[in-house]
Amino acid sequence: MIAYFVMEIGLDAHMATYSGGLGILAGDTVLSLADLGVPVVAVTLLYRGGYLHQRINPQGEQVEYDVHWDYHRHLRKLDVTVDVPFGDRLQKATCWEYWVRSKGDVRVLFLDADVEGNDPEIRRLNHRLYSGDGIYRLRQEILLGIGGYRMLKALGYNPSVYHMNESHSAFLVVELLKEFGDPQEVRKRCVFTTHTPVPVGHDRFPLNMVKEEFKTYDHMNWEEELEDGHVNLSRLAMKYSGYANAVSFKHMLVSKDIFPERKDLDYITNGVHHVRWIHEEIAELFNYYIPHWDSNPQLLYGVYSIPSHLIYEAHDRIKQQLINFVNRVADASFSSDVLTIGVARRITPYKRNDLILRDVERLIRISEIYDGLQIVFAGKSHPRDEGGKAIIRNIQEKIAYIRRRTNKLKVAFVENYDIDVARLLVAGCDVWLNNPKRPLEACGTSGMKAGMNGVINFSTWDGWWLEGGIEGFNGWGIGPKPTWQDLSPSDDGQDAEDIYNKLLYTIMPLYYLRKDDWIKLMKNSIATIGSYFNTHRMVNEYVSKMYVNMTR
Ligand SMILES: *Cc1c(COP(=O)(O)O)cnc(C)c1O
Repeated sequence: MIAYFVMEIGLDAHMATYSGGLGILAGDTVLSLADLGVPVVAVTLLYRGGYLHQRINPQGEQVEYDVHWDYHRHLRKLDVTVDVPFGDRLQKATCWEYWVRSKGDVRVLFLDADVEGNDPEIRRLNHRLYSGDGIYRLRQEILLGIGGYRMLKALGYNPSVYHMNESHSAFLVVELLKEFGDPQEVRKRCVFTTHTPVPVGHDRFPLNMVKEEFKTYDHMNWEEELEDGHVNLSRLAMKYSGYANAVSFKHMLVSKDIFPERKDLDYITNGVHHVRWIHEEIAELFNYYIPHWDSNPQLLYGVYSIPSHLIYEAHDRIKQQLINFVNRVADASFSSDVLTIGVARRITPYKRNDLILRDVERLIRISEIYDGLQIVFAGKSHPRDEGGKAIIRNIQEKIAYIRRRTNKLKVAFVENYDIDVARLLVAGCDVWLNNPKRPLEACGTSGMKAGMNGVINFSTWDGWWLEGGIEGFNGWGIGPKPTWQDLSPSDDGQDAEDIYNKLLYTIMPLYYLRKDDWIKLMKNSIATIGSYFNTHRMVNEYVSKMYVNMTR
């Protein structure tokens, strides 16, 4: 049995147990693990208030609310409690279960320390995802790592592999070290996937804080785990894992720079669960023309046997749904015969969500040369990400300005990006724009979702797109294509220039004047992206490179 630990998991839009990319990936992974019958139990935390419900106020600012979701309806409470030490206090944790049913069933455990008798600050750990730092975050991670380890034992599991998916659960090695004494025995059982290419993205806590919370564990010599006075969870996970991987080839090269001690760092490129992300309208065509595409997504190369007009008509029906939705929720007056670009993901400076609005006058001129242009934005900022919030304000200001200036260029912002909004956007837009600053995108997954729906990627050469993108064949790159070893950052001005030029000289003419060639790109996208960048392929790699090697 494999124990899969993750801080967030996105299984259902109505289960507020995720924030974004990492959680959706965990959800897609568990769906594929279940489909492929891999014996896994997943461990995460329950968040009663979710991550955040986003609204934009009249000043164009993000306002955050608790999510009110009916966890009693989705999850079943188990009659089990374990003790979790926080400093010298012993507190209780219980858990809730959710079953992902497929060929193999995967049980997902949601740990919960909001139980009677616990101290108020421990009970609050299950309030919101990523809502605090310092001691609050440290304790959430103790609940996940220590509580999760003990919960598995209490439920009768004896996992042969502990998979730390991102470092939030790294404290489970403390329990393993206690049980086995020998670090080598711990390394035989632990594997680690890193997802963050920036050093500041790795959780770290001051030594004294860690010592205080772990004061009942006398087998730990925290001085050995130090990095300028702090305990870094990624380093802890790296040190005690027998196998570790990054999430794309480029991300492996970037991560080796951050973790020079890990020369054997491998990579397993992310994917998405094709059955969850391919829209029903497209899936219906696949069912007829590509039987078994759902159990074997490699067969998506069969897309070439589908008559072009059927693909285009299916896409058009989804686009109509999207446009009805955007017009309803964002009062946007979009129309279905206008080229529509989607820009949706977490809003934070390195993602440069507003890059295409850098020169609004130029964008307006471009939109007026052909039959118009529509751009739909969505995404949340972390409540303490001031840079991200400034981007949201900028997008709102530009939207207001553009509305006064022209009706050829239409720009809308859809509030509260979540799984359901994403499912419609990644299938209903014509072009999927993703322009993070390289080399900071570990992998990126939304472009994979778009590509397998026949939505054309227009993306920075970074993360997965360096492996999957073929210029002019299944999409377009933004900015100069770096060599594998080149870790230099991209230039905002140069990238914006490239976006405008490709829009005007390549993308808009193809869309408006050569529809047959456009549909070829749609098919090429489905064939090349759908057949490879799925979690079935990814999970098979995890099994063969990671899980099997550990259990041998
Ligand atoms: C896929 C997805 C993400 C991740 O998008 P990236 O472009 O890879 O950052 C975030 N949020 C939601 C709701 C998603 O579906």
